[in-house]
Amino acid sequence: PLHSHPSGRHFLQIPGPSNVPDRVLRAIDNVTIDHRGPEFGELGRAVLSGMKKVFKTESHVIIYPASGTGAWEAALVNALSPGDKVLMAETGHFATLWKKMAVKLGLEVEFMDGDWRHGADADKVKARLQADTEHAIKAVCVVHNETATGVTSNIPAIRKAIDAAKHPALLMVDTISSLGSIDYRHDEWGVDVTVSGSQKGLMLPPGLSFNAVSAKALAASESARLPRSYWDWKEMIAINAKGYFPYTPATNLLYGLYEALDMLFSEGLDNVFARHDRFGEATRRAVRAWGLEILCKNPAEYSSVLTAVIMPEGHSADAFRKTVLTHFNMSLGQGLSKLSDKVFRIGHLGDLNDLTLCGTLAGIEMGLDKAGVPHRKGGVQAAMDYLAGSAAAPAVKA
Ligand code: PLP
Repeated sequence: PLHSHPSGRHFLQIPGPSNVPDRVLRAIDNVTIDHRGPEFGELGRAVLSGMKKVFKTESHVIIYPASGTGAWEAALVNALSPGDKVLMAETGHFATLWKKMAVKLGLEVEFMDGDWRHGADADKVKARLQADTEHAIKAVCVVHNETATGVTSNIPAIRKAIDAAKHPALLMVDTISSLGSIDYRHDEWGVDVTVSGSQKGLMLPPGLSFNAVSAKALAASESARLPRSYWDWKEMIAINAKGYFPYTPATNLLYGLYEALDMLFSEGLDNVFARHDRFGEATRRAVRAWGLEILCKNPAEYSSVLTAVIMPEGHSADAFRKTVLTHFNMSLGQGLSKLSDKVFRIGHLGDLNDLTLCGTLAGIEMGLDKAGVPHRKGGVQAAMDYLAGSAAAPAVKA
């Protein structure tokens, strides 16, 4: 407010919230209707059934008027009891926050340590579950796309590990920064509770979050004893059957969700995923051409949603981000907790096309120069060569 408005659009290239498309903004900008009236029921049913397609589930999806953190809590309190053992994988900052929440809620957490450069280790999960012959562990919790590091864990491999150990633990997965950007299959991958949020791949503002709930998780919730009221699946599911909510829903965000779902389905989910894969690859080519290091160590786990880049020794990632913001009006993601000031994160998710990505990478390349960060030129060129040479679905029909 203290500055005159800069010309052109702000580049919001953090790994969520992502840019909200104009179509979605306009949909949100409609009059709020009676959430118990007939029109609302139609809207409610449409977004609930659309979200099932996005999660790839025939089972229940719950929509909360809450940030992703609320949906994390909902997953734990609905399915677990005080003192239950849960096995969680330390993939980075967000996995650590989920773990802290579980401890606060009175769960006994076993945190499988990680170096914040790899995904969840399926072999470790298998070994730990095999050793748990008494089946004390009630849930395995994994963050699909660790937004702090740009590492995507292999969820089918975790499922296989649980099955190989013949262990009955529930599988809970956080897809807050992957849903609608990276392939995800709640039913096929045998996930019991999938947690997600509105502000990343779903291209909405923050404020909605989700649980997809398997029949097994729903059955577990019948005897689970952690206190819950607002987050209770049961009442929600009963009232959702007709498209309504037990309390006042975030009506205008649901208008936005309706529109965003239409955009995702008209592009086609597979095309959406392929688009993100291309952006991830183009970005990594740029980073390598600059001579900088990608935080994710395992190419099989590279995230298509964001790339975390390690700052050269002796240089401040935050000072660099500040230079980029000041000179080019672009926000990049900061390093979180132990990665603070050591990495910057490039968001390449949501409502993004080849030229938005090129603009983003150009802002970074110019910023590296301005901030005096040692690098080679040619990152943007490397990305452009890849984008021009790799077939994408035509953006505009000829
Ligand atoms: N989990 C992941 C993977 C996230 O990226 C985030 C937010 O960035 C969260 C959880 C927390 O969600 P929220 O900030 O919406 O509460």
